[in-house]
Amino acid sequence: MLSRRLLFALPLLPLAAACQSHEASARASASTTSAPPSPPDPARARWAALLADREKLRPLHERSGPPKPGEWRHEHPETGQTFEEYARSRPTVPTPERRTLVVQPLGPFDEAQAKVLALATDYLGHYFGLPTRRAESIPLSAVPTSAKRVHPTWGGKQILSQWVIDALLGPKLPADAAALIAFTTEDLWPGGGWNFVFGQADLHKRVGVWSLHRYGDPSKGEGAFKETLRRALKVAVHETGHMFSLEHCTAYRCVQAGINSLEEEDRSPLWACPECVTKIVWATKADHIPRYEKLAAFCKETALSEEAAFFERSIAALRADT
Ligand SMILES: [Zn+2]
Ligand SMILES: [Zn+2]
Repeated sequence: MLSRRLLFALPLLPLAAACQSHEASARASASTTSAPPSPPDPARARWAALLADREKLRPLHERSGPPKPGEWRHEHPETGQTFEEYARSRPTVPTPERRTLVVQPLGPFDEAQAKVLALATDYLGHYFGLPTRRAESIPLSAVPTSAKRVHPTWGGKQILSQWVIDALLGPKLPADAAALIAFTTEDLWPGGGWNFVFGQADLHKRVGVWSLHRYGDPSKGEGAFKETLRRALKVAVHETGHMFSLEHCTAYRCVQAGINSLEEEDRSPLWACPECVTKIVWATKADHIPRYEKLAAFCKETALSEEAAFFERSIAALRADT
C-alpha cells in the first residue's frame, strides 16, 4: 500500500469500451429499421448486469468517514474514482495475450514466509480470476548499491522500490503477463522524502513490488501467521489493483483505499467495495459469484473467518431477488 502511483493523472476519455459498443448497436438498429429486431448487444447487457449487481452489493459496505490525522486520506487528499470513471479512463487490463499474473520472488524467504507467498499467489489468482505463475527467484546480489540504502534515522537496510519497478521488472515483463509482481521480505522505500513503503505499483506498466518486511514474523505461531497472511493478501490485491489502473478508493472502507500505517492497514478490510469490485470483474471479465465462492473457500481454509463470512453474504446478496 502507500503506493506512490506513477502517471496518476489518468486522462478521462469520452467513451468507455462498453459505451462504444452501446453506441455502435444504436447506430446499427437505426439504419435497419425494417429488419427484424437484432439480439441484445452482449456488452450492453453485461454493463447493465454489472450496474445492477453493484446496487445489490452496496448495502453490505460501509462508507468511509472523514479521515483522521495521520490517515492516508488526511495526508493525501484524493478525489476517488467510480466504476464509470474507471471504465472511461482506458485502464490497463488483462488481454487475451496477457492473462497471467506472474509473481517474482526477490531475495530470501524462510519457510513460513514462503508459505505466505504461495498463499498470496493463490489468492491473487482467485481475486482477479486469472492464472498465476511463479518466476525464478532473483537474489539480492542483483540489486546494485545505487538502489540500496541504510535508513538515516533508524539504520535499517532498504531497497529502492522505484528501481525494482523501472530497472528490474520493466525489462523483464513476460509476453503473457497481465502483471509482473515482485514480492520480497526486504524493506522498501520509494525515493526522496519517504521513510518506507509497503508496496508500489505502476498504473500502466503492469509492474509492481510489495514487501513482507513490516508484516510481522509468520513463523511465531498460528496467530502471527494469520496476521501476516491477512496483511500480505491486502497489499497483494491492492498493488495488483493499481497495476490494472485502479486508483485509490475514497468512498468506502475498501482494500483499494490508501494506507499510511500498519494500524490503518489492520483497520481496512480485505474486500473491495461495490465500486472497486465492479472495476475488477469488468476488467478481468470475471463473474461475481464464482469469484466470491473461491475467495470464501480460500478464507475458510486459512481460518480467515470474518472474510469468509463477508464473501458468503456477498453471494447471498447477489442471488437475492430485487
Ligand atoms: Zn495504493
Ligand atoms: Zn473501493
